[in-house]
Amino acid sequence: MRDDKWLNQRLNHIWSLLFIDVSKANNVNARFKGKWRNKFGHIKLLRNKNSEIVVNSLFKDPVIPEYIIDITLAHELVHYSHGFNSPLKKLYKHPHKGGIVEKELKKRGFENMIKLEKDFIKNKWFKLHKLLTYDL
Ligand SMILES: [Zn+2]
Repeated sequence: MRDDKWLNQRLNHIWSLLFIDVSKANNVNARFKGKWRNKFGHIKLLRNKNSEIVVNSLFKDPVIPEYIIDITLAHELVHYSHGFNSPLKKLYKHPHKGGIVEKELKKRGFENMIKLEKDFIKNKWFKLHKLLTYDL
């Protein structure tokens, strides 16, 4: 079942496999929240100095491929590693300047997943979003 516990296990798994060089400078917790159409996730530095990674709660539905969750978590981890909403040193002025997130993801082996994600957004996501948010 895709609950917050599962999501955090996923995050720690990705971190230890593909972001092992990124030091964990505070507590980082992930949770499902929101049903956004134009946002898959975000990272926030909380007042208690923990970082919180939020993933679109519609991704709890098994109809959404797991790689979408993985790449969302990885995207937010890149922000963390660049010092955005994390205690780490800020490396850039803007979190998405010049495609830095995608470049970093490619460097870390997500090139194929980026293609899959683009295809998913182009061909499936908006229909699925409609379906998953449909009010009876
Ligand atoms: Zn981003």
